[in-house]
Amino acid sequence: MGFIGQAEHGGIGRRAFLRLVALGLVVAALPGSAVAAERRKRKTTKLVYRLSTHRRRTCKACKAHAANRFYRSKKAADKDRAHAGCNCAILKQEIDRTLAKQYFKGRRKVFDLRSEVT
Ligand SMILES: [Zn+2]
Repeated sequence: MGFIGQAEHGGIGRRAFLRLVALGLVVAALPGSAVAAERRKRKTTKLVYRLSTHRRRTCKACKAHAANRFYRSKKAADKDRAHAGCNCAILKQEIDRTLAKQYFKGRRKVFDLRSEVT
């Protein structure tokens, strides 16, 4: 039955249930999701870095750059700015591990969605 069944029958309190939802544990326990089952076994995401133009005054070049590019490391992101003087933030983002492998295969440090020919 899992968490849901238990919650419905008062096995765990509603408050506790909601806290589990917030932690993402309940989602992983929901039936019918092969992805969730896989996720419990091993980590399926990879941390990558993105430039971000959110809440900043930015130019078109930065926006296009940030929207399309993924970096293996923070340093790689910092070295690959759209132009000198760019002060876009560098953010972490979790992406699918398999996808990340494709993006950074051959020890590539940068991946641009616009160059997807692999
Ligand atoms: Zn920028």
